[in-house]
Amino acid sequence: MVVRALGIFLATALALSAREVPLVILHTTDLHSAVLPAVPADDARLSGIQEATPDDGPLGGFARCATAIRAIRAKERNVLWLDNGDTIEGNALGFLTRGAAILRALNLLGCSIWTLGNHEFDWGLAALAPRLEDFKGDLLAANLRYDAPPGASPEIARAFARVKPFVIREMEGVKIGVLGLTTPGIPSWSRPRLIPGLVVEDSLVALRRAVPLAKAAGCDILLLSAHQGLRPRGDDHANQVAAIARNFPELDAIIGGHSHQPFEEQKVSGVLYTQANFWGSHLGRIDLTWDPDARRVTSRTARLLPMDATVPMNPEVLEALRPDLDRTAAALAERVGEATAPIEALGGPKASTPLHDLFCAAIAEAVEARGGKVDAVLHGLLAGHKTGLPAGTLRMADVWSVVPYENTVGVFEVSRDQLLEILEENASAYTSPRFRGLWGLTMKIKPSAPSGKRVVFLGDREGRTLPPAARLRLAANSYDLASGGRRWPRLRELAEAPSAKLVEYDFQTREALAEYLRKHSPIRPKKPAWWSIERAKPQRR
Ligand SMILES: [Zn+2]
Repeated sequence: MVVRALGIFLATALALSAREVPLVILHTTDLHSAVLPAVPADDARLSGIQEATPDDGPLGGFARCATAIRAIRAKERNVLWLDNGDTIEGNALGFLTRGAAILRALNLLGCSIWTLGNHEFDWGLAALAPRLEDFKGDLLAANLRYDAPPGASPEIARAFARVKPFVIREMEGVKIGVLGLTTPGIPSWSRPRLIPGLVVEDSLVALRRAVPLAKAAGCDILLLSAHQGLRPRGDDHANQVAAIARNFPELDAIIGGHSHQPFEEQKVSGVLYTQANFWGSHLGRIDLTWDPDARRVTSRTARLLPMDATVPMNPEVLEALRPDLDRTAAALAERVGEATAPIEALGGPKASTPLHDLFCAAIAEAVEARGGKVDAVLHGLLAGHKTGLPAGTLRMADVWSVVPYENTVGVFEVSRDQLLEILEENASAYTSPRFRGLWGLTMKIKPSAPSGKRVVFLGDREGRTLPPAARLRLAANSYDLASGGRRWPRLRELAEAPSAKLVEYDFQTREALAEYLRKHSPIRPKKPAWWSIERAKPQRR
C-alpha cells in the first residue's frame, strides 16, 4: 500500500501570534453522490491529481473526504465545512436513493452548510423537498425563490422556506457570514414541469440584496459559496464568478463549483477563488487568520487536498450506507443483454455511430410502447470520454456508463421547414461534441455553407426527399427541450408552441436503453448513415 500519509493536510500553514484566530473552511463540491472512489486515476486532466497512477485505483469519493475532514477537525480549533452543491444526483446510488444516502453521510459528518446546485432539481421539486428537510445544516441559495403555484404541495413550500441567502457562523467571537448562490442556468436545463414556481435570479441582483444584509448583521468575514465555476474565457449565463468578484471586492473568498474543475488558489479581480473539482477528488481547504485587534483578515491561503489512495475511506460512512451501497451494486450488476460486437460511440459528428443508432431506436420504441409515435429522434452522441458499450454481456453498469444523466423524453410535431430550422441550429455545433445526431430521417450537411443553408438535404429513412407539406413527430430529451443551456433556443421555442402538441413522458432515457437491450439482445451493432457530410469543392489556385 502506498504511504503518502495524511501529513499533507495536517501541516499547519502559519505560526500565529497569541491572539490571532485561525479559521479553517473546508469545502466539497459536485459530489454527485460519489461516496466510493470513482474518478479515473489514468486521466490527470480530469482528476487534477498529477501524481496518481492507475495502480492507485479510482480516486476521490466522499468516504475519503470524511477521513480528511475528521483528521482536520481533530487538529484545528475552528473548522467550518460546507458543501457547494450538485450533491445528490449523478450516479446509481444517488438515483436509487433519490439522494438520501449521500445526505445521510453529510449529516453523519456534520456538514454545516449545503448550497444548492442545478442537478438537485433533476427529479423535480417534489423529490427534492424531502432531501431539503433531511439536511441537518443550513441550506443556501440567495438567488432562488419558490412561488408556490396553486395546488402545489405545502411540503415543497415548507422545504424551500429553509433555503436562506446567507448564514452566520461564530467562532471564537469572529462572525463569518457565508452567502450562497446556485447557478442561474437552472431554467435552461430543466423542464418547467419539473420546477413549477421556482424563480432563479441573476447572481448580482441577489447579492446586491444579500451582501448589505450580511454586513448589517455584523459579519467580520464574508465568504461566498457559489455553485458556479470560474470560466477562464469569461462569464456565461450560468457562471458569473468574474462579475461577482468585480462587483463585490469585499468578499474574503469565493468557493466555486459546477464546472468540475480544480482551481487551487486563484485571484479574480483581487478576490481569492478556489474550487474543489468533482466527485470528491479533492477536499478544499481555506486557511484564514483573523486579527482581533486590527479586526481584519491578516492572511488567507487556499489548497486542494487530493483524495487519492493514501487517504483511507471512513469506515463509519461505509457502514452507515452499507445497505444502499449493496443495493446499488446489485442493481448495476444486473445483466440486461448482450452484444455481438462493441457498440462504438466514437466517430461523430462526422457520421452516425452504432451507439447513437441503438439509443435513438430505444427512445422511439419506449415512446411507442407508451402509446406515442415518433418519426425522428434528435439526440447527443453519448461520446463523453467513454468509448461505447463492450461486446458480450451487457450489465446495468454499462448502461449507466453511457447514460450518466437523468433525462426524460418529449415528442412534438413540426413542419418540414420547422424541422429544418432546428437542424440548422444544430448544424452550427457541427465541429463540437455538442452536435446532436438525427435518427429516423436522412440529412446531408455542408459545414462550409453559410449559416441557414447548411442542411442541404432532408429525406425520409429511405433517402427520399421530404415533401414541403410533411409533418413530423420529433423526439428530444428533456435537457435539449429546455434549450440545453441556451444552445437550442429555436428547438425549445418550436417544441413549446401550441401547434407542436408537446407530450412529455416520465421514463428515463437510461430505462429506455435498458428495456431495449432486454428485449432485443443479442444486439448486432449497425452503423446506418442517417447523416452525411458534403465537403466544399477544393478551390483551384
Ligand atoms: Zn452544477
